[in-house]
Amino acid sequence: PPLYKQRYQFVKDLVEKYKPKKVADLGCADCRLLWMLKFCSCIEVLAGLDICANVMKEKMHTLSPLPVDYLQPSERSLTVTLHHGSVAHKDPCMLGFDLVTCIELIEHLEESELKKFPEVVFGFMAPSIVVISTPNSEFNSLLPRVMLYRHPDHKFEWSQAQFQSWALETARCYDYSVEFTGVGHPPTGMEKVGFCTQIGVFVRKYPQTGESLQAEKPMEAVYKTVFKAVY
Ligand code: SAM
Repeated sequence: PPLYKQRYQFVKDLVEKYKPKKVADLGCADCRLLWMLKFCSCIEVLAGLDICANVMKEKMHTLSPLPVDYLQPSERSLTVTLHHGSVAHKDPCMLGFDLVTCIELIEHLEESELKKFPEVVFGFMAPSIVVISTPNSEFNSLLPRVMLYRHPDHKFEWSQAQFQSWALETARCYDYSVEFTGVGHPPTGMEKVGFCTQIGVFVRKYPQTGESLQAEKPMEAVYKTVFKAVY
């Protein structure tokens, strides 16, 4: 299967393993991953966030309930919401999630946004699990026609060492553990190159205390809700 499907399948497998009830996809683009996740029966709240409202709106109708959902309502409740905003900003609508996914997002962030990203995702949202995927630059020599980066909008592409040192430092700072894996295997004999897409799975070390939750000051909403469906 194409690489993006392997990434989505990786997230789906993670959902089957940890059974999160509330999942947020940051940089959700055309909502394809959200659409796949809506079939995971453990999920009761799904949220997407993207800085580009147009790309989100393209296929957001696919997240609406179908006639069958009304005719044969399922036992579980499901709410799907899409927000327009940036991962560089905190918004209270992003609190309380169990799993936060950032698939091929960080390499699109400007330096100033990337700097704020850990505090927003790990410090503020502080879900039990965060999954981050990004291209592995060491794999590029095996790809045809890669100029500097795989995509003109990429602000950087990291080697395994660069991604791992950023991830380990972030994990240390916010009390998470992190494990590295990926999708897209290198050819036999070239294993040192690593996966085509590198993935870090972060798990929060300590349960969130009521105290730290209450410590959140009431704050203003900065994201704009562009879609909401209740099943
Ligand atoms: N996650 C999707 C996937 O794997 O198919 C889409 C990845 S796409 C390569 C990156 C997305 O991140 C784009 O839709 C872009 O608009 C979004 N993005 C870029 N900067 C962002 C920011 N600061 N906050 C939220 N989303 C952002």
